[in-house]
Amino acid sequence: MLFDLGSRPLTTRDVARIVKDGGAEALTEAERRADDARYQEIQCRSALNRVNGMPFSWTLNPYRGCTHACHYCFARRYQTQFELGSGDEFSSVIFVKTNFVDVLRRELDNPRWTRELAALGTATDPYQPIEGHYKLSRGTLEALAVGHTPVGLITKGPMIVRDIDVLQDLSKLTTGSTVYVSVPTVDDDAWRKLEPGTAHPLQRLRAVKALVDAGIDAGVLMAPLVPGFSTHPAKIEATVKAIADHGARFVGANLLFLDGGTRDHFMHFLGNEFPAMVDQYDRLYAAKYAPKDYTEQVRKTVGMLKARYGLNDRKRRGEKDADLPAAVPLAREAQATFDF
Ligand code: SF4
Repeated sequence: MLFDLGSRPLTTRDVARIVKDGGAEALTEAERRADDARYQEIQCRSALNRVNGMPFSWTLNPYRGCTHACHYCFARRYQTQFELGSGDEFSSVIFVKTNFVDVLRRELDNPRWTRELAALGTATDPYQPIEGHYKLSRGTLEALAVGHTPVGLITKGPMIVRDIDVLQDLSKLTTGSTVYVSVPTVDDDAWRKLEPGTAHPLQRLRAVKALVDAGIDAGVLMAPLVPGFSTHPAKIEATVKAIADHGARFVGANLLFLDGGTRDHFMHFLGNEFPAMVDQYDRLYAAKYAPKDYTEQVRKTVGMLKARYGLNDRKRRGEKDADLPAAVPLAREAQATFDF
C-alpha cells in the first residue's frame, strides 16, 4: 500500500492518487475475476452528477470503466480522470461504487431535488457483466422509482431484461422514462472487431422486444456508425430492418466522432488491426467529426431506411396511432458506396 489509508474504504480521489504514483498495479485491493478484469470497490461522495451541454442535466454511473471494451467508446477519455489509460485499462480496471445506491437515495430524498430526468449509463455500461454480482443498476432504478425521478437509460447489455419489473414501475410513476439499447450494426464482422466484449446484436434486439412487449418505452441507437465497418448502405439497411422486426419504438443514429483518449485508442487499434485504413481515417477525421457532406449522406440513408421500414411512425408510449408509411425506395444517390 502506497498510502496509509488505514481501513477506510477508498474514494475516487484515493484511487487517482494511488494510480498516479504506482500505476494500476498499485491497486492491490482490486479483485481479479474470471473475466480477467480487476474490480476495485470504491466509495462515492455523490451519485447524481450535474452536466452541461447535454440533452439531460444529470448523469448516474455506478461503475467506471467497461469490460464491453468497444474500441470507439467515447467514455475511454474519462478514464484519465483516474490517472488510468484509455486503452486496455479502460476495459480491465473497473471501479465499483459500492455505496452508490445509498448515496443516491439520500440525494433523491432531499426536498430540493427537482425530479429531473437522470441519464444512467453515460460513462460506462450499467449492464456490463459485473452488474450480475453487485446489482447497483437495479438498486439505482429502484431508488429512482421511489424518488419519482425519470430515467434515460442507455446500454448494450441484454441483462436489462432482469429489471423489467422495476422499469415497469418507473414507467408508471414517472413521465419520460426511456430505454435506449445501443445496436450500431447487426453486421457480425463489424460487431466482433469493434465491440469485443458485448453480447451479439441480435441478443440486444431481443431485449428491446422484451422491453417493448412489457410496455416500456424502448428503442435503439445505431451509435456510432463507424466508417468502413458499418456505413455501407446494405449494412445500414440490414440493421434498420432488424430493429424494425424487433418492434423498437424508435431509432436514432449518429456517426463516429474521435477526440482525446478515444481518438488515441481507436487509431492505435486501426494501426494494429487495419493498417490499410489509417490513411483514410486520417483524411476523414482530420477534425473530431467527419466532413458534413459525408455525415449528411449517412443521415439521409438512415432517414430513408427508417421510412421504408416504418420506423418514423412507430407509436411511442402515450402517442396516437399512426399509419405505417408506404415503402420508400432508396434514392440512387444514397446507394453510392460510402464505405469511406
Ligand atoms: S458498452 Fe458503452 S460504455 Fe461500454 S465500452 Fe461500449 S460504448 Fe463504452
